Amino acid sequence: MTVTCLIVAAGSGERFGGDIPKQYLDLGGMPILRRSVLAFLHHPLINAVHVVFNPKHEKLYQAAVGDLPLPPPTIGGITRQDSVRLGLEALASQQGPRHVLIHDAARPLIDANTITDVCKALETHAGAIAAKPLVDTLKKADGATIAATIDRTHLWQAHTPQGFQFNALYQAHQKAKGQNLTDDAAVAEAAGLPVALIPSNPDNMKITNPDDLGRAARLLGQPLDDIRTGFGFDVHRLIPGNLITLCGVEIPHNQTLEGHSDADVALHAVCDAIFGALGDGDIGIHFPNTDPQWRGKASGHFVHYAVGKVRERGGVIAHVDVTLLCERPKISAHRQAMLAKLAELLDVTPDRVALKATTTERMGFTGREEGIAAQAVATVRLPVVR
Ligand code: MG
Repeated sequence: MTVTCLIVAAGSGERFGGDIPKQYLDLGGMPILRRSVLAFLHHPLINAVHVVFNPKHEKLYQAAVGDLPLPPPTIGGITRQDSVRLGLEALASQQGPRHVLIHDAARPLIDANTITDVCKALETHAGAIAAKPLVDTLKKADGATIAATIDRTHLWQAHTPQGFQFNALYQAHQKAKGQNLTDDAAVAEAAGLPVALIPSNPDNMKITNPDDLGRAARLLGQPLDDIRTGFGFDVHRLIPGNLITLCGVEIPHNQTLEGHSDADVALHAVCDAIFGALGDGDIGIHFPNTDPQWRGKASGHFVHYAVGKVRERGGVIAHVDVTLLCERPKISAHRQAMLAKLAELLDVTPDRVALKATTTERMGFTGREEGIAAQAVATVRLPVVR
């Protein structure tokens, strides 16, 4: 592990009011914490994401990110500084990473470019934080009256992520134990570490009060408008037998499809179309045919897994379109059952699946009934992870 992101989600969100701590509130169809976690989990320069939480929020935590590939969360402390130190100690106990990024769960609109810039800066700096140069003129108040105008030149607002050489930050936190510093750059500064300022995306706002939630939702726009299309193709050989499984429906036939699983060529094409839309490998990578546990397995299991991969990303399946290429069996008699099964397996309404069948006019391997081919196109809607 070379770069780990520590997400601080232990706060009780007192400034926010309400029963649910702000990091677990919904923003555009997804808990705020989940958005923050996914931004780092899907970033190519981040190797692992570790959350620091409050065990009082166990149920909310599980509902928000329990299905994601995360190590067990670390229990935070009373102050933010304590929570980060406890998170660093947990990482150190498992051979700490080379670099660590600390990110507040309440900044769910963090974008990939800012993460990249902070990571890259760590190649030449002990610390680097996302920050925004101040543009407003600053006034010092005396009650409700201006006492002075403060020179804003050289002033920046500190955002997260804040990245550091792991060992340097770990030691700085040990030294600063018991203080109440409000960000990790302050801990690093206290230890004399140089920290670079990296321009942050201006939308990388911190959600502090309910108005912020509305602003963040507006910035987010449509929640699921990252639309992806994937294509899948599969072929299985026909051998003598008495049953064929297509689209999860068993059809009596004088041949069967040869394969490691139940050889449901249509569902295999569907899985590959979904994996294609996600840019996440193919069915052979997720379910190697050398693995005995998939022998004779119903392919609906693979579809459930692929759908789970979409959900893990906060997405939905918009549509799946399947074409079967075979002379026999004739599909028309089984079409309705197949459509119903496809909708059930994909967990979508029936209007979101389509099934067509064609012969190849007795030409080629499908025409000679040596095998059956299937094609599928999947359209997937993912949240825009900013
Ligand atoms: Mg196959």
